Amino acid sequence: MKRTFFAAVLLAAVLILGSCESTAPESSGKDLFAMDTVISLKAYGGNGEKAVNAAADRLNELEGIFSVTRADSDIARINSLGTAKVSYDTEKVITKALGVCESTRGALDITLYPVMLAWGFTTGSEHVPTDSELSEALGKTDFRRVTINGGTVSVPEGYKLDLGSCVKGYAGDELAAVMSANGVTSAIISLGGNVRALGAKPDGSDWKVGVADPFSPNELLGKVCVRDKSVVTSGGYQRYFIDENGVRRIHIIDPSTGFPAESGLASVTVIGNDGLLCDALSTALFVMGKDAAISYWRENGGFALLLVTDDGVIYATENAGFENTSPYGTETIYE
Ligand code: AMP
Ligand code: MG
Repeated sequence: MKRTFFAAVLLAAVLILGSCESTAPESSGKDLFAMDTVISLKAYGGNGEKAVNAAADRLNELEGIFSVTRADSDIARINSLGTAKVSYDTEKVITKALGVCESTRGALDITLYPVMLAWGFTTGSEHVPTDSELSEALGKTDFRRVTINGGTVSVPEGYKLDLGSCVKGYAGDELAAVMSANGVTSAIISLGGNVRALGAKPDGSDWKVGVADPFSPNELLGKVCVRDKSVVTSGGYQRYFIDENGVRRIHIIDPSTGFPAESGLASVTVIGNDGLLCDALSTALFVMGKDAAISYWRENGGFALLLVTDDGVIYATENAGFENTSPYGTETIYE
């Protein structure tokens, strides 16, 4: 029997810590379902309600642009027509994502949609594809063949984009910008495994963002203290199915094989200033595995990293500011 798991709803409920002290000023909030996950917006003080409503409008706009299932979205038009004039948002996201595809040597590949379809991940019909289905799908993936010219995106025949690895990170930054433009200086935005902090907590201290335990997703491994940053986690536990033989098949795919990544990692958390980059990297570094992920961090910098291995060890870069509250041990990674 096949079982499917989707832990984002639970995650959203546990990720934000320390945002409900009695001294906090009045907050305005909204919970929404978009981008295939629960999204929660919370703004403190100022023009909070107006800001939250404006952010929700922007979220709906982004959903309309990036949804793979809405026929008139930019991504659906590229996927069905092979070439489409796109919005500024789409051009920006694809351009930046292609940079990460390149810098991770294809561990991120935004043309993986045919492979996701072969596994049934996006259609709710998860199953193990046959070898020929998989090789046909893999033959239609290669991020190097995506072109952007004057706002028009083109892909070869049969190629299809999947920006699920990075759109939520972009959305976090965009929603924070809308709130900020509406005068809010303190807010927290949670999009499934993505959290975006705007400013500091209303009392001036850092936001404390909980990091889920990948082996027990309703528990926390610990927390990171941030302001004006994104904290993005990718993990097999967030979405997977158990096949007929009892094998767990996760939604993060190794583009070099078309099979779910088996890199020895249970989760990857990336903390940094650019939400899209954090989101794209969390997926790519998960595929790359511990040693390659740490090398990437050392070579590129500009972000902090928390890795949890399948055997229950947490590796935290020295700039992560991670407070471990779990039974697992932490190894600190230095430059
Ligand atoms: P995330 O939750 O940010 O790690 O993104 C995972 C989603 O990105 C999956 O559900 C797929 O839609 C897509 N995806 C899976 N593997 C890859 C990959 N190696 N490169 C790009 N996108 C991927
Ligand atoms: Mg990601």
